[in-house]
Amino acid sequence: MGRQPDVVIIGGGAIGCSAAYYLRSEGLQVALVDKGSLAREASWASAGIIGPSSHLQGDPWFRQATLLSRQLYDQLDTALFEETGRRMGYGGRGSMTLALSPGEAAEAAADAEREAAAGVSVEVLTGAEARRREPALPDNLEAVIQHPEGRFLDARNFTATIARAARLKGVRMLPGWPVTALTWDGARVTGVRSGHDRMGAGWVINAAGAWAGLLDPALAAPITPDHGQIMSLEGPELGLRHTLHRWGRYGYITPRPDGRVVVGATHEEIGFRRQITPEGLHYLAGVVSTVLSGLMDQAMLDIWTGLRPASPDALPIIGPDPRASAGFLWAAGHSSSGIMQAPATAKVLVDLVLGRKPRIPLDKVGIERFLD
Ligand SMILES: Cc1cc2nc3c(=O)[nH]c(=O)nc-3n(C[C@H](O)[C@H](O)[C@H](O)COP(=O)(O)OP(=O)(O)OC[C@H]3O[C@@H](n4cnc5c(N)ncnc54)[C@H](O)[C@@H]3O)c2cc1C
Repeated sequence: MGRQPDVVIIGGGAIGCSAAYYLRSEGLQVALVDKGSLAREASWASAGIIGPSSHLQGDPWFRQATLLSRQLYDQLDTALFEETGRRMGYGGRGSMTLALSPGEAAEAAADAEREAAAGVSVEVLTGAEARRREPALPDNLEAVIQHPEGRFLDARNFTATIARAARLKGVRMLPGWPVTALTWDGARVTGVRSGHDRMGAGWVINAAGAWAGLLDPALAAPITPDHGQIMSLEGPELGLRHTLHRWGRYGYITPRPDGRVVVGATHEEIGFRRQITPEGLHYLAGVVSTVLSGLMDQAMLDIWTGLRPASPDALPIIGPDPRASAGFLWAAGHSSSGIMQAPATAKVLVDLVLGRKPRIPLDKVGIERFLD
């Protein structure tokens, strides 16, 4: 790239790489910088559950963003394979929430009724019906709530694959380029600096994950690291098609296309430290025993950690910042659902850079809600 890029993106996670891919697809000159390797932080650690079901689904931004992302993932599954020859590990038939007692079943059914009234696609199944769709389920189920729209995604493959597709399209990727400051011309952001190196750009997008709030003291934001421990196991012999939850409990078991399952995840506030602890293992074993106890004897394959970019209300921060008159956009703080929201966030960034009306209204996700 001879001239200054139109856009420089800080952060090579799912958010930054998706934005790079879609912005370049519009013909813009794009550079992406990362302090380390691409696709190695939260997006590498993620369980890769794709909504739309989540405790945030009552929120209009969240619901629209996850639905749009679902449609975009369906397209990306084919497009990225054609462009890179790699599969992103996308699949599944939705999620199931298991109710084991009459009390759990009554509460879960009432919740499903509220969701259906709000337009969420949801079905209440008997144990026998659910087992026909998911043969690995046990036979002591009182009821099962199915959300058929959800999918799973191998978030490591996805982020690495969309990064590769973006590079093949001409995005300039600069791993090992830690942004140490933004550059300013008065109130306007004009680019980024890494030590003595500078890169000017028409737009700077902050997609720096858990570190995004610390990049520039003039553009601070309440984004903090939410540490998660998560593990993989050999899956059931019959395979698994759905992400499984137990009604009223935290945690999930979600499949991978190769037959493994992923069990997650803890939420810990321990700063930027990462650690695997007996407490974390105990929590994850508890998830297995309450969700699908038949897996308690399966081999544990791996355990890892990651830092979610958490915002105080679990919604992301997207769009301009009134403290910068021009040249700067937020794309951070996606908390526990950044993979679900990555393609939609990227499309909204394209709208903003091209001066179009954002296809999803941004009033719920602006930085203004955290500024006095
Ligand atoms: C255990 C766990 C399970 C999860 N499960 C799910 C799930 O099932 N579904 C879901 O949707 N989400 C899930 N998430 C959340 C999801 O992973 C995140 O919301 C998402 O990955 C955030 O993407 P990101 O691109 O903002 O951040 P990241 O992937 O963390 O990327 C940010 C990048 O910015 C770079 N960076 C930081 N500072 C600088 C700097 N100064 N200069 C240059 N580069 C910098 C970092 O090196 C990093 O590569 C999970 C997260 C964890 C940890």
